[in-house]
Amino acid sequence: MSDSGFDYDLFVIGGGSGGVRAARVAAGEYGAKVGLAEEDRYGGTCVIRGCVPKKLMVFASGYRDMFEDARAFGWEVNDGPFDWPAFSEKLNGELDRLEGVYKSMLDKSGVDRFDARATLKDAHTVTLSTGEEKTAKHILVATGGRPWRPDIPNAEKALVSDDIFNLKKLPKSMLIIGGGYIACEFACILHGLGVDVSLWFRRAQILNGFDDEARGFVADEMRARGIDMHSGANLLEMEERDGGIWVKSSHGQEKTFEQVFFATGRTPNTENMGLAEIGVELARGGAVKVDDYSQTAVPSVYAIGDVTNRVNLTPVAIREGMAFVRTVFGGEPTPVDHALIASAVFTQPEMGSVGMTEENAMAQEPVEIYATSFKAMQTAFADRDDRVLMKLVVSKETRTVLGCHIVAPQAGEMIQMAGIAIKLGATKEQFDQTCAVHPTMAEELVTMRTPVRTS
Ligand code: NDP
Repeated sequence: MSDSGFDYDLFVIGGGSGGVRAARVAAGEYGAKVGLAEEDRYGGTCVIRGCVPKKLMVFASGYRDMFEDARAFGWEVNDGPFDWPAFSEKLNGELDRLEGVYKSMLDKSGVDRFDARATLKDAHTVTLSTGEEKTAKHILVATGGRPWRPDIPNAEKALVSDDIFNLKKLPKSMLIIGGGYIACEFACILHGLGVDVSLWFRRAQILNGFDDEARGFVADEMRARGIDMHSGANLLEMEERDGGIWVKSSHGQEKTFEQVFFATGRTPNTENMGLAEIGVELARGGAVKVDDYSQTAVPSVYAIGDVTNRVNLTPVAIREGMAFVRTVFGGEPTPVDHALIASAVFTQPEMGSVGMTEENAMAQEPVEIYATSFKAMQTAFADRDDRVLMKLVVSKETRTVLGCHIVAPQAGEMIQMAGIAIKLGATKEQFDQTCAVHPTMAEELVTMRTPVRTS
């Protein structure tokens, strides 16, 4: 029993990135008595079926081009086929290791772990699937989300992102439905691993919400690499035929693929948890509604991460967890700052973005656009046609850099750095005062002298 008169000061539901961080810091740094329930594997989407295995697959798929490039640089390389079972075994071993790290971090912080599903009985009580009940002064819902399939007949025959990591063998052909982060990343990964990939997306362009020029650039590069991409394409029918899945699209195509993969978005894990029953408000689509401090309509219940559908990224869930702990256990009300979050899409080439798109900035105020597209030294030497894009969106009035968009190998690494300057409110002139690092691709960010467009 904690000093608060409950079993726990804090009970966390969900052992993903956000929940584990909040539990660990509340117990380890603030001395709170904390319990945490996880019904599946510790580490959550990011570690077990998202960012981490995905990025390892990005690395694996990147070697195909590297073998060719190595030959252009004078190496004698004898490449063979990709051995999925060997990679998959090593990948699963790494995920087991990371899950162990998550568990031991909780244990070392003194958090009580319950390998069970938890539902809410009332504002201070959770019921575990083991039959136990635990009371807590505060309850934190950090249950994340899961892939969502469109409601069409035979949809269950298709894979979702969770399934990709558990494939026993790679298919020869795959149709991916969707044009978002997951669809585009896996189109590139699977193509790189030798799968014949088609991508059907219902809008005119992939990666809705990103800068038009940057996403157009990524799409061109994906097509040039051999991904069969169809815009304005909806899946109308699908059924198992001839050992594969026959599909019919709204753009008149009928084809059989060995596998179909729905990358059609994710849905928050709030079903059958007793949330609405105890008064927690849910938005359309099921996300938990929270205020700036991640507090729900029930004052003792908070929620962080993808289950709140704010900005569905691991580092954001972690920040929301930290802000919650500081607010509730540190006595320092801390809202989460969701402005200017840099992110990367791990397509090939990668795209890194922070701040406003050209389109949004132009709608807000007069802007100058600085952009350059060129062949990078390394790939040009290897006789590749790949191009990179460096782009800054600058306020005409204040000279502040409002947005930065990079399409290039390692764009994710570059945008992290650019994100610091932009978060600090750097102006175009301050970018230009920064001496270039030569020879790099990123030096273009501080050497673009003349705007290519103004509004
Ligand atoms: P997204 O929201 O990015 O993309 C979903 C895609 O599915 C969109 O193209 C959407 O089209 C399409 N879609 C939705 N419903 C249908 C339908 N009925 N028929 C056909 N297409 C449909 O979701 P993801 O699942 O790709 O990713 C979820 C979130 O996870 C991301 O938003 C991101 O926050 C996070 N993430 C981040 C990554 C990173 O940081 N690198 C990597 C992976 C995920 P439309 O645009 O028309 O709605």
